[in-house]
Amino acid sequence: MKSDSQHAFLQTRIPGDRLLHSPGPTHIPAEVLSAMHRQPMDHGDPRLEALVAVCEAGLRRVLQTETADIYLYASNGHGVWEATTENLLAPGQAVLIPGTGHFSEQWALQAEATGRRVIRTSFREGYPIDANAVEQALRADRKREIVAIFAVHTDTASGTTSDLQAIRAAINAAGHPALFVADVVASLAAAPFAMDALGVNVAVGASQKGLMSPPGLGFVAVDARAGAVAAKNPAPRYYWDWERRKADYTYKKFCGTSPQTLLYGLEAALALLFREGLDAVFARHALLARAVQAAVECWSREGAVFLHCRVPAARSVSVTTIEVRDGIDVEALRTVARERFQVAFAGALGPQLGRAFRIGHLGDVNAAMILGCLAGVEAAMLVQGIPFGRDGVRKAVECLAAG
Ligand SMILES: *Cc1c(COP(=O)(O)O)cnc(C)c1O
Repeated sequence: MKSDSQHAFLQTRIPGDRLLHSPGPTHIPAEVLSAMHRQPMDHGDPRLEALVAVCEAGLRRVLQTETADIYLYASNGHGVWEATTENLLAPGQAVLIPGTGHFSEQWALQAEATGRRVIRTSFREGYPIDANAVEQALRADRKREIVAIFAVHTDTASGTTSDLQAIRAAINAAGHPALFVADVVASLAAAPFAMDALGVNVAVGASQKGLMSPPGLGFVAVDARAGAVAAKNPAPRYYWDWERRKADYTYKKFCGTSPQTLLYGLEAALALLFREGLDAVFARHALLARAVQAAVECWSREGAVFLHCRVPAARSVSVTTIEVRDGIDVEALRTVARERFQVAFAGALGPQLGRAFRIGHLGDVNAAMILGCLAGVEAAMLVQGIPFGRDGVRKAVECLAAG
């Protein structure tokens, strides 16, 4: 136990706002917060059914699917990963997980822990999924044992977005019947994603990133082919089971009490996205990401910090991973930025742990927030004695001014 005095700084009042630039959870709009400020309803209230229906329809619209079934869970992204594995594969069956870094590996470990056989394609640090490797792995599967491909669209650790169209093309070229499953937790409502057009059979998402909602809701969108595979899958399951959740009554749909408060938040967040227009949302994310990445390019001139993603076209519009030279203490940098300059950004995960930090720029963000964040990072680097090209913020300003 730490003493009270060690925690004293946690009690200090912070004037103004602290900028949250983690790639999830993200800043929540005031409209979403106030939509959640209400009493619950009883399970049979028709308003509850209407609320769930609006959320499902809104998610279909964001996912760009006409017909997929939506299953919402009181869970985080890891929960809906597991829901997908449990519904699509029986223990012992095989899934191909193309390497993207930390998130593909975590999904693979989870699938193995629940008894599935995982085939991985190797990943190269700083690079997106190699679609050729996916095609080769599928061609090598002569007995057609691979039931599904689990592809992470944006790997939130590496800040790299893979080309889902290229993966769809690889599956088609190999003539393989495997289901195409896409994790869009970090990319949905930030980067364009069209489930039906891509021939994605299952899309996996969560509330707390591009969807500008609090953590706690996960969801899957399941097309008819994936639904048929799930219906025949003998894997024992209960809470996650899609068949069991096919119902109008929300108590059954959620396998128990629904997370009403979070659903009210999601309803409000979806309405904000549609009011802005999805194309405008995507354009805003692309612009803000360009501004962040222009600043980091400038910082990197002094050789201490640099962009992790080596492929400019694959740099995520949601999050930028910034690698640091040996000897730089990322946690100390983060602490100075958060406690002195009120800018909270993320540390690294998995393979990049201790040698990178991440700036989230997805969800309810605007130019002023991005400039504040970048300036706060610069201030913290100055305090920490980290050399960086001093025109980073200016480059970002120019980028934003050019539009
Ligand atoms: C955040 C994230 C997850 C996991 O979500 P949790 O809600 O933290 O469990 C899965 N995949 C991707 C790509 C993510 O960014």
